[in-house]
Amino acid sequence: MKILIIEDEAHIADGLRFNIEAEGHEAEIAPDGETGLELAARGFDAIVLDVMLPGIDGFDVARSLRERNDFTPILMLTARGRPEDVLKGFEAGTDDYLPKPFDLEIFLARLNGLLRRREWSRRETSQTRVGDTFEINGKTIDFANLELRSGGETIHLTMMEIKLLRYLIDHEGQTVSRNTILEDVWGLQEDTDTRAIDNFIVRLRKYLEDTPNDPQIVRTVRGVGYKFVSLKN
Ligand code: CA
Repeated sequence: MKILIIEDEAHIADGLRFNIEAEGHEAEIAPDGETGLELAARGFDAIVLDVMLPGIDGFDVARSLRERNDFTPILMLTARGRPEDVLKGFEAGTDDYLPKPFDLEIFLARLNGLLRRREWSRRETSQTRVGDTFEINGKTIDFANLELRSGGETIHLTMMEIKLLRYLIDHEGQTVSRNTILEDVWGLQEDTDTRAIDNFIVRLRKYLEDTPNDPQIVRTVRGVGYKFVSLKN
């Protein structure tokens, strides 16, 4: 497996590379976001991405990758105690995060999890549905492959989009509050800014709804949160 490390602190980057190579993988280091984006075009199996970088930051790097349809799994390294960074990272399209400073064993476990992305998605999402797909509004959500298929079109979803979708589907017909979503899906505390969830909902609606501005599937419950309504019922 080939791992790209986008990290400006040389001692951290070198330490990560050493440990990744000790696991039998290959690793390359990019000391800033621009270089990272250039190198990423060569194709990697996973990207380790620091948030605070000289020039363009980690969020912009993630966003640029996703915009150019690069869905390589991204593990983001965030500063400790910054849940807003975590949310911003998920919005930008990252798949997992690790607060600095971190334990190398945990880093490797997370990285290996991302490399086994499909297994990870099965483990991380609940198992209340038989099979790994869900049909809605003529579209197929493929949880294991992180895809949404509609006609001949395939849309790639991020891990967090899939987790949120699975959560809403599992709570079909129930109103779920933004705070509950923050805790259950993102694993974040209640004092975090919940607006990031709204941005995710906007994206899910674009994927699922015929008229995203008049949502019939992911409905808003004013002042509370959201309710997933399956059109089949
Ligand atoms: Ca940094």
